[in-house]
Amino acid sequence: LMQLFRPLDLLGMVYRTIRQGLIDMEAMFRLIDTDAEIRDRPDAPPLEIRAGEVRFEHVVFGYEPERTILKDVSFTVPPGSTLAIVGHSGAGKSTIARLLFRFYDIQGGRILIDGQDIAQVRQTSLRRAIGIVPQDMVLFNDTIGFNIGYGRDDATQADIEAAARGAAIDRFIETQPLGYDTRVGERGLKLSGGEKQRVAIARTLVKDPPILILDEATSALDSRTEAAIQGVLEDVSARRTTIIVAHRLSTIVHADNIIVLEDGRIAEQGTHASLLASGGIYAQMWARQAAERMNPEAGEIAVRRS
Ligand code: ATP
Repeated sequence: LMQLFRPLDLLGMVYRTIRQGLIDMEAMFRLIDTDAEIRDRPDAPPLEIRAGEVRFEHVVFGYEPERTILKDVSFTVPPGSTLAIVGHSGAGKSTIARLLFRFYDIQGGRILIDGQDIAQVRQTSLRRAIGIVPQDMVLFNDTIGFNIGYGRDDATQADIEAAARGAAIDRFIETQPLGYDTRVGERGLKLSGGEKQRVAIARTLVKDPPILILDEATSALDSRTEAAIQGVLEDVSARRTTIIVAHRLSTIVHADNIIVLEDGRIAEQGTHASLLASGGIYAQMWARQAAERMNPEAGEIAVRRS
């Protein structure tokens, strides 16, 4: 009997490990179809996407009962707009993204998409509506075309190539001897960080979700690659409701709204300009990161002063 249980244990462990990060939740959900903890109600209807509004209402959540991570978080992301979430490490930025994907159920409040409580709708329909560009994508040991088309079951070669163009990785793929049939991974083509991110973006374009979560990489790519990817991401997020889990403030200057998380609550919110003008936490974080960009040691001084 124990042997029967072992694979389940292992799956559970893999599941728990992967969901620590926003690593690549979509890939994971496809690999492990069974979700032990979050279940659909038997009569759960599918999510009906209209304009794509995302709304958190007094959300309370902790991974463990004795430690509440989000204490009372409310915000609305109007359809097609971009929200950036900032805050110190561990403030709960990625947690908000995980909750929108319903990785966990919340302990208080509601999370709504176009007015529908995400806990009441069919999970497959919820996850179909949300695309994630993770920090670190899992590439399958398969062709580059497969890795891009993975975003949608019925993706055609034309869809894959259009997505590659949208993510500006088409030229790179076409220079490979086998083109889209080039294998990636262990024994195939090794992709750089920037190329991997482009594959992740292309995969999202194939999926074409109305809601997008961008989990910004903590470490910067070289500045040319960074600027190019930033441009591609701006195109991808135009017309979609977008939530950016932000680490570097320089990339979110144009967000429609920015929320600053602190102690489980939204401490400040507004545009880049209004938050700078109000001279609070965001303004301090901005000054510190600007100083770090100029001179890493000056950044240290700014941290100690604040
Ligand atoms: P960073 O900027 O470092 O990525 P973050 O703001 O995204 O941080 P989260 O990943 O949302 O922070 O984590 C918020 C808090 O929840 C952290 O204190 C973290 O230790 C805790 N936490 C995250 N995942 C779990 C888990 N599975 N079980 C228990 N605690 C967790």
